[in-house]
Amino acid sequence: MAEDCLFCAIVAGEVAVTKVREDDDTVAFTDVNPQAPVHILVVPKRHIADIAALGADPQASAALLHAIRGLVDAERLADFRTVFNTGAGAGQSVFHVHAHVLAGRPMAWPPG
Ligand code: 5GP
Ligand code: ZN
Repeated sequence: MAEDCLFCAIVAGEVAVTKVREDDDTVAFTDVNPQAPVHILVVPKRHIADIAALGADPQASAALLHAIRGLVDAERLADFRTVFNTGAGAGQSVFHVHAHVLAGRPMAWPPG
């Protein structure tokens, strides 16, 4: 667990969230500031800073994709958007990698 990491604190149960799914390697919970009717964050339980670091670990990468697939089934997602913000300049504010899974409204492309 990384000190001063909000998502490590959430994984440890020190900060309350609405959990949607959990397995041995990942936790999925609703975003406190939803940008769509469905806005779920999927995080590895182990502290990994961003998708670049995640991608260096094939097992952890697969676990996160597997968790997203689990959400597709559990939440009956059909059309959805998956976003990984990487770096402050791209909007990353919590430096524990997380997939945003957004659904339930039309999504423009390009996102702007
Ligand atoms: P980022 O900006 O790093 O891509 O995404 C971080 C996300 O975490 C934001 O969408 C923000 O709303 C969400 N977030 C920040 N603090 C909390 C919290 O305490 N609980 C939950 N559930 N989500 C949070
Ligand atoms: Zn962390």
